[in-house]
Amino acid sequence: MCAPGAIAALYTGVVMSCLFCKIVEGDIPSTPIFEDDLGYAFADINPQAPVHVLIVPREHIPSLIDTDQSRRALLGHLLWAAAEIARNKGLANGYRIVVNTGEDGGQSVDHLHLHLLGGRPMAWPPG
Ligand code: AMP
Ligand code: ZN
Repeated sequence: MCAPGAIAALYTGVVMSCLFCKIVEGDIPSTPIFEDDLGYAFADINPQAPVHVLIVPREHIPSLIDTDQSRRALLGHLLWAAAEIARNKGLANGYRIVVNTGEDGGQSVDHLHLHLLGGRPMAWPPG
């Protein structure tokens, strides 16, 4: 059983070592696409489509697995932001939103993020 202080220290350590927290804070450079009080969006460093944007909450949330009903408004906001970016990018023909979640979902960065992919036709099923 951990003392509350130890849990807080552990959480602070996770956040401080999180790649996307560092990007949100500006400690690691990124190409900004959109930002507001709740979220930040930036270009994926390894784009899989002509448009490939990552939308993340400013707050460190590891994945969708870690969300409860207190996150409903934030999750809706991030999805709205993705649609807004798609509109601004002129993706009127369609696009794909992906949220890789956990180990089976293929998530590689443990800070919740939405992928916005567009500018080419997408195949189904995904790999
Ligand atoms: P996922 O596999 O769903 O966790 O997606 C993580 C994404 O983060 C991948 O598409 C990576 O290309 C992207 N990525 C990793 N490092 C950076 C970075 N420094 N800047 C922008 N995107 C990154
Ligand atoms: Zn983080």
